Amino acid sequence: MEERVYNFSPGPAMLPLAVLEEAQRDLLALPGVGISVLEISHRSKPFTEIIEAAESNLRKLMGISQNYKVLFLQGGAQLQFVMAPMNILRGTGKSADYILTGTWGKKAIKEAATQGKTSVAWDGEATNYNCVPAEADLKLDPHAAYVHITSNETIQGVQFPSEPQTGDVPLVCDSSSDLLSRPVPIEKYGIIYACAQKNAGPSGVTIVVIRDDLLERGADDLPTMLSYKKLAEAKSLVNTPPTFAIYMVKLITEWIMREFDGLEKMQEHNRKKAGLLYDAIEKSGGFYQVHAAPQCRSLMNVAFRLPEAELEGKFLDGAAERGLVSLEGHRSVGGCRASIYNAMPIEGVQKLAELMTEFSQANA
Ligand code: PMP
Repeated sequence: MEERVYNFSPGPAMLPLAVLEEAQRDLLALPGVGISVLEISHRSKPFTEIIEAAESNLRKLMGISQNYKVLFLQGGAQLQFVMAPMNILRGTGKSADYILTGTWGKKAIKEAATQGKTSVAWDGEATNYNCVPAEADLKLDPHAAYVHITSNETIQGVQFPSEPQTGDVPLVCDSSSDLLSRPVPIEKYGIIYACAQKNAGPSGVTIVVIRDDLLERGADDLPTMLSYKKLAEAKSLVNTPPTFAIYMVKLITEWIMREFDGLEKMQEHNRKKAGLLYDAIEKSGGFYQVHAAPQCRSLMNVAFRLPEAELEGKFLDGAAERGLVSLEGHRSVGGCRASIYNAMPIEGVQKLAELMTEFSQANA
């Protein structure tokens, strides 16, 4: 078998080896079924058990109570940029507040504006999206339809350490790049959504957790495939869902429970990994520059720069030689970025931290 390298891709990202092996082992025939998961009907008993287990695992891990629905949708996180306002902003006569901490939040507000009135409650542009706002700097409308945040900006490597206070206004969160990486106080959220392809599974499925009262806001004449209420009533099975991706969500949530016993330990593990990289950066004496301000550095995406573009190229080449790949920064910001989601083992991060230290000593 071809040897696996450490893949620091921002997404689709590295998956746990144990999960890939399990999927590989059972690919031709699911135990007790004798048919591949790729070949069974989404309305069959085995698949019903798979989707119910995936939901129940998510409920257990995230502490999701019965007054929330868990949906498995398609169209990626970007469809949620428009589906959320279509369902809970359109027709309300209200405005939606957006807190902009990076590229994805900006995309989200642009899509929301196609559905209703939006307002920027805070914009990190002045400091090139390197931090999250202090509570006092937010211009929140107490009558807003909702407040939207991006809990982790994947490109800038900026993460909210905790949720902003939104009072009675529902918090809507794009958690695409940090879902399942840490515990969340779910009762603070109206909607939390995430594409799966970073922490929760392969691409193709989007997880949406939505509080029951918000299902009622959607107009009855919304197209079925775009109505949270209708999708919830059909238990995400209006049409054929991405069955294989949902199966992988089941395996990955089981892996988290088995290996980490929940999201507290998952977070501890992620803190330890990110700490190794931020320490190497701090100790480099300014050779590496982190994009994010210290209090909101992401545990998932460590975005950093070297003194010159030429050195960045040399660094990336050196990394590839050691089996550390996909460390290029996003094309919009340049530099380097190490995405270290749940599935990245600590050994991969240790290897990267070692390289960073050696490289800065040799090239400073
Ligand atoms: N939001 C965030 C925070 C992301 O990181 C991404 C993907 N990188 C998206 C949204 C878009 O996800 P998708 O490609 O599934 O639409």
